[in-house]
Amino acid sequence: MQRRPLIVGNWKMNLSMARARSLARGLGRSLAGETFEVEVGVCPTFVHLSEVAHLLEGSSVRVGAQDCVAQSPGAVTGGVCASQLRELGMKWVLVGHSERRAIFGEGDDLLAAKLGAAVDAGLEVILCVGETEEQRRRGETEAVVVGQLRGALRDGPSQSPQALTLAYEPVWAIGTGRNASAADVAEVHATLRNAVAEVFDPDTAASLRILYGGSVKPSNITEYMEIEDVDGALVGGASLEVESFLGILRGV
Ligand code: PEP
Repeated sequence: MQRRPLIVGNWKMNLSMARARSLARGLGRSLAGETFEVEVGVCPTFVHLSEVAHLLEGSSVRVGAQDCVAQSPGAVTGGVCASQLRELGMKWVLVGHSERRAIFGEGDDLLAAKLGAAVDAGLEVILCVGETEEQRRRGETEAVVVGQLRGALRDGPSQSPQALTLAYEPVWAIGTGRNASAADVAEVHATLRNAVAEVFDPDTAASLRILYGGSVKPSNITEYMEIEDVDGALVGGASLEVESFLGILRGV
């Protein structure tokens, strides 16, 4: 089954508006002159979404959000819901990033609700799963990531599994420079694909993209992309500069 590679930059809360504009302009210009086999996306912070989407209009870079609330439009102070993101032209939303799980205490119930709301609103979801260092040391990696997958999928998206992409992001590898070994990534991705086959069916598992995330950079992307079950990357730090993000796209 041919799966088109996907590289997504997660800008997190790192950039000022000026830097987000300049990064978007730089990416738009650079990508216009090169062709890549990969689908490319970026996830700016909420307040930069419109501006970045506007600057990237007509380019091959798609824009998505880093989070959404589970509720429908209404009385949720400070919330941004999935249908509002869709209205802005967003293509996807990240759900379950480990920073949301750790900083905001987001767990299976909430993530399942967010995932369902996003898919119902017509967004694609990149569902992030990953173990902590302690869980890996205790040999719990596979149980943790499969548990997170099953937990977030328990309410769906049974009607639209094609709206789903997974991202395996070991927590200890995020922003640390300690990227996971190719062997470890191969093992976890194969486990996740088997779990998807059990939750949905083998055809869905064969077509679903599974990204790796955790200190991906131009010097290690090729090694990951050579792994059969790796279909791209979710990139934090190295997506914040045009040259390093392009280096990753060139290395796919
Ligand atoms: C991330 O937070 O999704 C991520 C993968 O970050 P980094 O590439 O900086 O490790």
